[in-house]
Amino acid sequence: MPMSRRNCLKSSAVLLAGTVVAGCDESTPGLDASSADRSRIYEAGASPLETSGWTAASGVLPGYPVLEGDRDTDVLVVGAGLAGSSLALHLAEAGVGVILLEERQPGWGASGRNAGHVLPTLKDVSAIRRFPDGGKAFLESFREHHRIPFELAHKHGIDCDATQAGYLHATARAGTFDELKKKSLFWRDEQGQQVEWLGASDVQAITGSTYFDHGVLYRSGGRVNPYLFTNGMVREAVKRGVQVFGETAALTLAQAGARWRVSTASGSVTADRVVFCTNAYETDVVPQFANNFYPLTAYGVSTQPLSPEALAVILPGRATLSEEPVDLNPFLIDAHGRIVTSSIPSSSRPDDAAVHFANHLRWIHRTWPATRDMDIRMDRYWTGRVALRNVEFPGVFQLQPGVFGLMHFNAWGNVMAPLLGMLLAGGLARDRLDELPFPLEQPEPVGNPGKQDLIIRKLLIPAARLGQRLGII
Ligand SMILES: Cc1cc2nc3c(=O)[nH]c(=O)nc-3n(C[C@H](O)[C@H](O)[C@H](O)COP(=O)(O)OP(=O)(O)OC[C@H]3O[C@@H](n4cnc5c(N)ncnc54)[C@H](O)[C@@H]3O)c2cc1C
Repeated sequence: MPMSRRNCLKSSAVLLAGTVVAGCDESTPGLDASSADRSRIYEAGASPLETSGWTAASGVLPGYPVLEGDRDTDVLVVGAGLAGSSLALHLAEAGVGVILLEERQPGWGASGRNAGHVLPTLKDVSAIRRFPDGGKAFLESFREHHRIPFELAHKHGIDCDATQAGYLHATARAGTFDELKKKSLFWRDEQGQQVEWLGASDVQAITGSTYFDHGVLYRSGGRVNPYLFTNGMVREAVKRGVQVFGETAALTLAQAGARWRVSTASGSVTADRVVFCTNAYETDVVPQFANNFYPLTAYGVSTQPLSPEALAVILPGRATLSEEPVDLNPFLIDAHGRIVTSSIPSSSRPDDAAVHFANHLRWIHRTWPATRDMDIRMDRYWTGRVALRNVEFPGVFQLQPGVFGLMHFNAWGNVMAPLLGMLLAGGLARDRLDELPFPLEQPEPVGNPGKQDLIIRKLLIPAARLGQRLGII
C-alpha cells in the first residue's frame, strides 16, 4: 500500500533494523485526510476500498447508479455485502422481484475487506444445538453447502480466486493437536467432510516450515477474494432482474398500509418485505439493529507478489493456514502470489500499517527462516468491522411482519453469509418462514457494546502478541 509520510518514516526505521517492510510513496489511495481523521477512518473500519488488497488486481469496480424517484418491489434488500448479495441473487433465482440498496457500493463493507479464509467448519455448534429441532435441519444444510463460495463461483462463472486448496490448522504442540483431532471428529463423522490428521513430514510438506509438527487439514476449505465474490453475486442478480442502487443509503423505514416504505435521499422503495443486511455498518434506520452487537475493528494486509524463491519456500501447498492454539497471523497466498494476512489493530494506532506489518513479518521470519534474506514488501493495509454476538450464530431477525435482519457474521462470513442468504431467500420465496432451518429472533440490545473490543483488542491480542514475541506461544 502506498503509505503516508509518517508511516514511511517508520518503515525506514524498521528497515535500518534489517527488515524491509514496504515501498513508500506519498499517500493512501482514496484518502486525503489529516492524521486524526485518518485514524478515525481506520478505527471505523472504513478505510477507502482502494486500500483493500482484494481490489489491487481488478481495481475498484464500476459503481451502480443512485436511486432516483419512487419504486416498488416484492423484497427490498438493504446492504450489498456477502449476505445481501446472496439473498438478492437467490430471491431472483426463485422469481421474486428485488431491489438492492447499498449506501456505498457492493462489497464496500466487511465483505470487501476480509482475510479471504473459507473455513468449512463452525467455531462452536452449541448455539445451533439449542434450536427447537436440536439443530438437525441447519446442520444438514451446512453439511450440504459448506463449500458454498466455491459452488456459487463455479455455477455462475464468478472469477474470484475461489480455490479449494484446503484449510490447515497447524501446530507445534502435541496437546493442541489432540484437541484439534477431537474437534475434527464431528466434522468428519457427522458432517461427512474429508479431514486428514497430519504428522510432521506431511504438515511440513504443505507449510514448507519445520516449525509445525502436527496439522488437521480440511480438504473442502480454502480461499476466496471476497470483494470479487460479492460483486460477482450482484452481477448475477442483475442478470436475473434485480435492480441495484449504489451510493444510496436507506434513511427511514415506515409502514405503508400492509407494506413498507424505505426512503433515501432522492427516492423511495415500497416493498412487501424489507431485509436489512447491514452487519457492523449499522445506521439508525432501525435502531434495534444498531445496538444489538459488539463491533470490533479488524485489519487486513497484503504484500506485493512474492518472488519465485519466496513462493517456493512459503506455504508451497497453498492451503489456507491457521496456527493453533492462537492464530495471530491467519495466512494465505492468493492467485497473484501475494500474502494476505489479518488481525486486530492496536487501539492507539489503527492506521499504522508499518507497525502491524512488522509483527507479521517477524512471524514469517520465525516460521520460514529462509525468508529473512528475502525482500517481502507490504502493498496494502486496510481495516474493516466485524459484528460479534453473545451467541455463536448470526442474527436472523424478524422485527415485525415484513421487516427482517440478516446480520452479524462475526469473523466468519465467507461461508455463513452466502449460506444464510440462500436459506432465507428460500423461506421468503416460498412464504414458508416456518420451514427455515433456524429460528427467527427478536433483536436484543447489548448492555455494553465496547465489551469485546476491551476483552479481545485491549487485553487478549496484546497479551498474545507479547507471548509470541517471547516465544511462549
Ligand atoms: C479484517 C476482516 C477479516 C475477516 N476475515 C474473514 C475471513 O477470513 N473469513 C470469513 O469467513 N470472514 C471474515 N471476516 C468476516 C466477514 O467479512 C463478514 O462476516 C462478512 O463480510 C459480513 O457480510 P455482510 O454482508 O453481513 O456485511 P458487510 O459486508 O459489512 O455489508 C454490510 C453493508 O451494508 C451497507 N449499509 C449499512 N447501512 C446501510 C444503509 N442504511 N443503507 C444501505 N446500505 C447500508 C454497508 O455499506 C455495507 O456495504 C473478516 C472481517 C474483517 C473486517
